[in-house]
Amino acid sequence: MSSIFTKIINGEIPSYKIAENEDFYVFLDINPNAKGHTLVVPKKEINKLFDLDEGLYNRLMSYSRKIAKAIEKVIPCERIGMAVIGLEVPHVHVHLIPLQKMEDIQFIKKVKMSPQEFETTAKAIATNL
Ligand code: AMP
Repeated sequence: MSSIFTKIINGEIPSYKIAENEDFYVFLDINPNAKGHTLVVPKKEINKLFDLDEGLYNRLMSYSRKIAKAIEKVIPCERIGMAVIGLEVPHVHVHLIPLQKMEDIQFIKKVKMSPQEFETTAKAIATNL
């Protein structure tokens, strides 16, 4: 069965899309740790980060960097944190999270955003790429 992220990539489930290229699809996390919390997902459905072939792994890091720079331009924060977990969705994804404090990367406290806020945040990051 396809992962929820494959369904998003295929347009079967909606997402607040930021960008995509041949290898990756980028969208806002629906249950964000902080405003601007973004996921960078390889289109190829692979469970674990370190099972990516080296080329795809390097391209994922490089593309994540590009996205992080755009988030940083839009969301006031100390820095962008990066995490790879995958315990909930077994399809590789990089979390890019605007951080003010350590707690923001701990997946404990979540922020509420309206659909309108998701829309405008995704658009603002996309236009700064
Ligand atoms: P993890 O697999 O532990 O790295 O976490 C999966 C992440 O995917 C969580 O932060 C979820 O909020 C996020 N997530 C799950 N379903 C969706 C969805 N339909 N759209 C956007 N983000 C999602």
